[in-house]
Amino acid sequence: MQNKFILTVIRFCPVFSLIFSFFVVASTLTISEEISPIFVFLCAQVYANWFSIHRISRTTIVIASNSNLSAQGDSFAVQVQTDDSSTICRVPTIKPPINKNDKFWYCEKCIQYTSRPTRHCVHCKKCFHYRDHHCFLLGGCILRQNMGSFILICLYTSFASIYSLIIIGSYLYDHLDHFFGANSGAFQLILHFSFPFALARFLLYGQESCVVLVMLFDLLFAVSSICLIFGLWKFHACLTGRQRYYPHSIKKYNIIEIFGSYGLWNFLFPFNGFFRAKKLHETGIWKEM
Ligand SMILES: [Zn+2]
Ligand SMILES: [Zn+2]
Repeated sequence: MQNKFILTVIRFCPVFSLIFSFFVVASTLTISEEISPIFVFLCAQVYANWFSIHRISRTTIVIASNSNLSAQGDSFAVQVQTDDSSTICRVPTIKPPINKNDKFWYCEKCIQYTSRPTRHCVHCKKCFHYRDHHCFLLGGCILRQNMGSFILICLYTSFASIYSLIIIGSYLYDHLDHFFGANSGAFQLILHFSFPFALARFLLYGQESCVVLVMLFDLLFAVSSICLIFGLWKFHACLTGRQRYYPHSIKKYNIIEIFGSYGLWNFLFPFNGFFRAKKLHETGIWKEM
């Protein structure tokens, strides 16, 4: 019961993130009273990379559907597909024991045979190759194939948040300046920009203190910091070989392997998700079969 509740909350997390992002965009545009091309570019990048992550995680197929299985003696053919390759392999009909040396194993949750190295995601309800983690806020699995988009969405979310912080921060500074004394120090300033203090001031004294905007400011500060650190860390980890995908093979990834055939051009547009970036889907393991 508790498990089901947690899974339901996790399923709705992306909806909350989307609503929160719309709220931030609306607040920033309302306060700034103009549409800045920089802010539009940053927001477009966030949503385009979000779409890109979803598209790749949704279309990456590593297991055959049961209709593709055809029995023949003690083995059957399995059509193994990724975005841009399809291979027919033979798999024993007898359920093989699950151990790391098997090329194929049986996923109890997918109720299908699948090939290693894969990992099942309970939220996406499918097996994935080279999976990193399931992102609750974006509602998709982060794989080797969409890691580039994940790094970009982290960085662009951070930049867009910093832009909103500047707009909302300067508005708050102008509207709360009557609370600061002429000689107020940095500590007092931070206090006035903190949500608990703004809420207490509002509840105790009923003073107009922009509680919602202060809360938004604090949340955006947290979002921009976490996204910047996480995005840079993932980028660094990929380049230096610290990024390990299941089954934890150590490999240093170059720019093309991280972002796809279009490399750093993905900073301008997420080609990886909108067009096929073949180099991301090279699956050497198929050749072994
Ligand atoms: Zn599975
Ligand atoms: Zn997932």
